[in-house]
Amino acid sequence: MSCLFCKIADGSIPSTAVYQDELCYAFSDLHPQSPVHILIIPRKHFASLDDTSAADRDLLGHLLSTAAAIARDKGLGKGYRVVINTGEDGGQTVDHLHLHLLGGRHMTWPPG
Ligand code: AMP
Ligand code: ZN
Repeated sequence: MSCLFCKIADGSIPSTAVYQDELCYAFSDLHPQSPVHILIIPRKHFASLDDTSAADRDLLGHLLSTAAAIARDKGLGKGYRVVINTGEDGGQTVDHLHLHLLGGRHMTWPPG
């Protein structure tokens, strides 16, 4: 398996862990776009959100509730943003499903 985030999840490529359990792994983004910028990934490989199906809804819910729990733990009571870039037009650059948890500053809309 040549996937960067699979290697990060199994520890063969180093990262700064934030949270982990049997289903997911969360770590600091290498190029943070905000004071808090954490990636949450499933341990199971999915190329993108578009690679999931209704059978994965429990796992997808777990990823979202994990993002909320980490946001609470990081003190992001003023708010935060959760983003899933998907595919070429979505700006996805790493082909393993991941949630960005961004916080610690005011976010603007629309995104670029
Ligand atoms: P995306 O553009 O949505 O696919 O997001 C990929 C994210 O992965 C970017 O924010 C990168 O900064 C981040 N990234 C790439 N390589 C690493 C790495 N080795 N460790 C942590 N974050 C990374
Ligand atoms: Zn992967």
